[in-house]
Amino acid sequence: MVSSVAGPRPSTLRFAATPVAPTAADQRATLLADPGFGRVFSDHMALASWTAEQGWHDDGVRGLEPMTLHPAAAVLHYAQEIFEGLKAYRQPDGSVALFRPDLNAARFAHSARRLSLPELPADAFLAAVTELVRLDAAWVPEPPATLYLRPFTVATEAFLGVRPADEARFGVLASPAGPYFSGREVGLTLWIDPTLSRAAPGGTGDAKCGGNYAAGLAAQGVARAHECDQVLFLDAVEHRWLEESGTMNVLLVTAAGELVTPPLGTILDGVTRRSLLEMATDHGLTPVERPVAVDELREGARSGAITEVFAAGTAAVISPIVRFREPAGEFAVGDGTPGPRTLALRGELVDLQFGRIPDPRGWRVPVA
Ligand SMILES: *Cc1c(COP(=O)(O)O)cnc(C)c1O
Repeated sequence: MVSSVAGPRPSTLRFAATPVAPTAADQRATLLADPGFGRVFSDHMALASWTAEQGWHDDGVRGLEPMTLHPAAAVLHYAQEIFEGLKAYRQPDGSVALFRPDLNAARFAHSARRLSLPELPADAFLAAVTELVRLDAAWVPEPPATLYLRPFTVATEAFLGVRPADEARFGVLASPAGPYFSGREVGLTLWIDPTLSRAAPGGTGDAKCGGNYAAGLAAQGVARAHECDQVLFLDAVEHRWLEESGTMNVLLVTAAGELVTPPLGTILDGVTRRSLLEMATDHGLTPVERPVAVDELREGARSGAITEVFAAGTAAVISPIVRFREPAGEFAVGDGTPGPRTLALRGELVDLQFGRIPDPRGWRVPVA
């Protein structure tokens, strides 16, 4: 076991701001009007450096600019990288809130341990995200758009040997993101891939690391070739049990009133998945984490025992899945349109995030 070296006491990292001249208001307004996803960035970024000798240091929020890396930087060769994804939501009173960012901080530390990267203390993670959003609050769009936040740590040491790097850099980017679903919604068709896997027991499936995504791209290509929107990964051992989609967890609604989702282990412990399981009983659904075989999905969809299926993640919130395709053929879920439970859960989650309903569980964290 490789254990990562913890940084200095968390209270030493404050991510103090060094502001740069902001983008002109009219230009920002133009960018915010139709930002798409992941292409437009705010004026600043959070940064911190780490070395085995010094621990974390040189933290701050500064103007966004390119990062220079030695061409031998470990991340470029061995994919020693982790990331997170969360959003800042404009509230009805004009303030800005995050949604359960403590879970992202904890997962980031978990991913760091798995990838032998230095762990950033949770309060430093929260300080970095908070200070960046405060400084770039003008970049938080009006609902239903959001400011997507992308924390990451990369191994920067210039060394071609294979061992955990002695130098790393942490950053947070802020990127305004348009609404994921707009207008007429038809729901996704997923390709059930019988051979390609995303994660194996003992692997990195439960870490949010770039390598998982690189390895999943080929399956996404196969899904596209079969005219599907996304891939549904099955387990790597038997190619029989549902795992997740490339970037989202998968949940099912049964006629018996359950909200069923595969158990943790080789899948990512999604904040959205977890929140929906906790909200289920308010919607008259019993939350159940258990293995689901692809045969059960196929037969359940045909018999009506499974009434709705959807994918869940921060970026797209909830995406209804209305059809599956596999080598043997295809099948629809329900009547092939987004189901009422799916839309009700999504409605409540989005209302919670945008501060339109009370927050009895204390999931919203005001930051600006
Ligand atoms: C980020 C991610 C999710 C969704 O997690 P959330 O915390 O809900 O955004 C699901 N699966 C994978 C593989 C992911 O990387």
